[in-house]
Amino acid sequence: MAGILFIISAPSGSGKSTLVGELRKQVTGVDFSISWTTRPPRGSEEHGREYYFTNREEFERMRDEGKFLEYAEVFGNYYGTARHSLEDARRQGHDLLLDIDVQGADQVRKTMPEAVSIFVMPPTPKVLRTRLRNRSRAEGQVNEAELYRRLSEASKEIENYRDYGYILVNDILDRTVAQLEAIVLAERFYRNGEPIAYRSSRVLEVAAACRLANSRDRLKPVLEAFGIDGVSGQQQLPFGDESDED
Ligand code: ADP
Ligand code: 5GP
Repeated sequence: MAGILFIISAPSGSGKSTLVGELRKQVTGVDFSISWTTRPPRGSEEHGREYYFTNREEFERMRDEGKFLEYAEVFGNYYGTARHSLEDARRQGHDLLLDIDVQGADQVRKTMPEAVSIFVMPPTPKVLRTRLRNRSRAEGQVNEAELYRRLSEASKEIENYRDYGYILVNDILDRTVAQLEAIVLAERFYRNGEPIAYRSSRVLEVAAACRLANSRDRLKPVLEAFGIDGVSGQQQLPFGDESDED
């Protein structure tokens, strides 16, 4: 594609949708792929805005017709990226951003190894728990079983962080948004020679610091908090040994 394909993955509740929303306000020329899902709408979500909501039968029919670039089953529901998202972005010469899980990211990387992949981590399990709970409250539907399910998947997803080119730890929102923006601008600069409007050396510096290869020290405490061995990427401890104070 003429534009750049960005993949962003994160454990649920890390703040990925928030970050993507902020990025879209600040950077033009990035299309956001609206996925199909069989999960029901949450809170104020609308068909065609956050997701295209459908049922399993329809999803499986689309899958069998080859309509998806990738798809996966996450938390008992199907999620998939329509091929036409890529085709539309390509036609417009836009970049495309896919917000997909680690399984989907794996599938896309196999066919499009040039994709830029970004993994977002929450700073600690406790922060993740608080964010998930606050979001559920704001949406007026706290479901403890669903909350627990998402929390217990988080460490398993984080184990895949090494497959991503860039890692963000979403602690302070403004800083993480600036990092995400810097990654997009830096990749446009390196791949397409697109000039960076202001403070270009600072932007390139911020993006470089987020590269996996430069993230070792930054990630150490996060991986430890999630009980993940930084060398092998494997989980060491069972999740959830912190007390919940909220
Ligand atoms: P995801 O898309 O990764 O599932 P959301 O973007 O829905 O996560 O964020 C989960 C909750 O955390 C939301 O209530 C959001 O407002 C909040 N949140 C996101 N990023 C931050 C941050 N850096 N600091 C504090 N709260 C955050
Ligand atoms: P949520 O239900 O919180 O919106 O999303 C749950 C998970 O599904 C997140 O990790 C999100 O990135 C992932 N997801 C959303 N859309 C897609 C998609 O089209 N494909 C894949 N593989 N995962 C998706």
